[in-house]
Amino acid sequence: MGKQLLLGNEAIGLGLIRSGCRMVTAYPGTPSSEILSSVIRLKTHAPEVVYTEWSANEKVAFETALAASWSGLRAATAMKQVGLNVAADPFFSAAYTGVVGGFVVISCDDPGPHSSQTEQDSRLLAHAAKVPVLDPSTPVEALQMTGLAFELSERFQVPVLLRPTTRLCHARQSFESDSGLFPATAGPPPKGFRKDPQRWAATPAFRLKLHVELIQKLKAIEQEFEASILNRIQGSFGENGTAQLGVIASGVAFHTALQALRDFGADLPVLKIGTPYPLPRRLVADFIRRCERVIVFEEPDATIELQIPDRTRVRGRLDGTVPQAGELTPERAAAILAEALGEAGFPVPATADELLTALVEELAIPPRRPRLCPGCSHRSAYFAIKRTFGPRAIYPGDIGCYTLGTNLRALDTCLDMGGAVTMAAGFYHAGRLLGDERPIVATIGDSTFLHAGLVPLANAVHTGARFILVILDNHTTAMTGTQPTLASEVGADGAAAEPASIPELVKACGVRFVRMADPYDQDPFQELLKEAQSFTLAAEGGPAVIIADRPCVIFDPTPIVAHPIPVTVTEECDGCRYCVEAFECPAIVLRPDGSRVDIDLKTCVECGQCIDACYKGFIVPQLELQHA
Ligand code: SF4
Ligand code: SF4
Repeated sequence: MGKQLLLGNEAIGLGLIRSGCRMVTAYPGTPSSEILSSVIRLKTHAPEVVYTEWSANEKVAFETALAASWSGLRAATAMKQVGLNVAADPFFSAAYTGVVGGFVVISCDDPGPHSSQTEQDSRLLAHAAKVPVLDPSTPVEALQMTGLAFELSERFQVPVLLRPTTRLCHARQSFESDSGLFPATAGPPPKGFRKDPQRWAATPAFRLKLHVELIQKLKAIEQEFEASILNRIQGSFGENGTAQLGVIASGVAFHTALQALRDFGADLPVLKIGTPYPLPRRLVADFIRRCERVIVFEEPDATIELQIPDRTRVRGRLDGTVPQAGELTPERAAAILAEALGEAGFPVPATADELLTALVEELAIPPRRPRLCPGCSHRSAYFAIKRTFGPRAIYPGDIGCYTLGTNLRALDTCLDMGGAVTMAAGFYHAGRLLGDERPIVATIGDSTFLHAGLVPLANAVHTGARFILVILDNHTTAMTGTQPTLASEVGADGAAAEPASIPELVKACGVRFVRMADPYDQDPFQELLKEAQSFTLAAEGGPAVIIADRPCVIFDPTPIVAHPIPVTVTEECDGCRYCVEAFECPAIVLRPDGSRVDIDLKTCVECGQCIDACYKGFIVPQLELQHA
């Protein structure tokens, strides 16, 4: 293969294939989504069949892959950090039961956060679950650690968490391929599932025994980590073997700290920790003993720091030396180290980063908030919802591109996957207690509905809740790269799959008002919303579900391409900005002097949806203008 440039997630995918992993399951979520796509791309070169699956949710993904491990196969499951919450139940339990074939759980954290609800640290969840963690700092190290994770998992018969972060997942690194793509690193030949009810179906009495076993395994793993090549000291102590200042760092933060020290020309000892749990405590204590002060750089939380019993000389997130929220950017790391170096008497010159930051600030680039794509059908659905129910209604929302419905003032809440449905029911029951009769219109995407919306909907029907649920069905998991859903006719690797029927599933939950409609048809869609509201208020009514059916414009532009509606803005436009703010299509552009808007023909996809967005009728089809 020679030299290649690998994305962090591709490196992990390559690591899975090179390690002889036979099953990889995942639910898409930024920053983890490219891991399974890479495995799908690479698996055609694998010596043996590799089963891949975009699962309905992370719990399903975890348990499916775990069954493969219990059958003796190497298996892995990939998700983002909030996905690990969804899979937390089997994650904790699997640590007790253990595994047979190497089992690697990949949970990608999102310091910042860039595209998540929380900045949570998967390493802390692993600590709570007693699952060992490997924390790569570069794409190539992630590739290497993937293989090491399988070996560790097999030797100690525990699941192992591989925990990359956004900057690693989406960074590229050149990779020199060695002797071949598939060195013989695969584990022992699988023997199939062997019955052992005291382990695989352990009752509470046996669970205690398994817990004791797990604690012993962790002690042995910690012992091994004390001498692991994944933990090493870079930089130098002084002549007497001590230093005024030292750094302990893991993951991407290791390189961030190292770069800042290089920029300052400071040669300090840096202990790189690749195994943050269980922490090699003797190694860490010895390092701290040799430094007058130590700063811990890790993301996104204080997993290493919390495992250091004596923190008298330790600074980090816990005492606020490192900010307790937000990404540890190069600028932040440089500022923290500059202060610490200054206090320790090192000269601190201005860094290239500081000069660059000043230059960027000078440019005064205006901020632009994220917006739905031109032609996105979610915009049309939200526009209709807002026109029908106005600002008074309560709008529970969910996780996906359509969370941007908040810009259109038709989305009030966004808690977690499936939260729109449960919260809509909760608002209904709370409203009954309070005498609050405001309409409730919840929105959820098709993938999110199939991930976590079904049980909440059945629960809402069962408890007699009344609200409108609009399922924004764009036929794909759009936000993470258009992966298939359970309703798709193809599976993860493009082979034919049995599509689930969303309307039938909704009916099976007990919903009696189920309609499908195209949100591009503004007037009928608004009429349908009114009809749904009447159903929620009727004596014999209940929750009403509308499936807003129109493919994602990126995933399948065919309907627009087949029926383009070029538009233009007439000379009467007075620049009132209503269309800009209420419809927010990126192709509608206000002139710098604010006098009027124009259509940006480079961005416009000719969906024609903005014709309804000017209530004065100044956005018109081009054809109409030509004929006038
Ligand atoms: S097109 Fe209509 S809504 Fe948009 S700025 Fe002009 S007058 Fe206002
Ligand atoms: S036709 Fe209107 S709504 Fe559609 S992309 Fe163009 S400007 Fe946006």
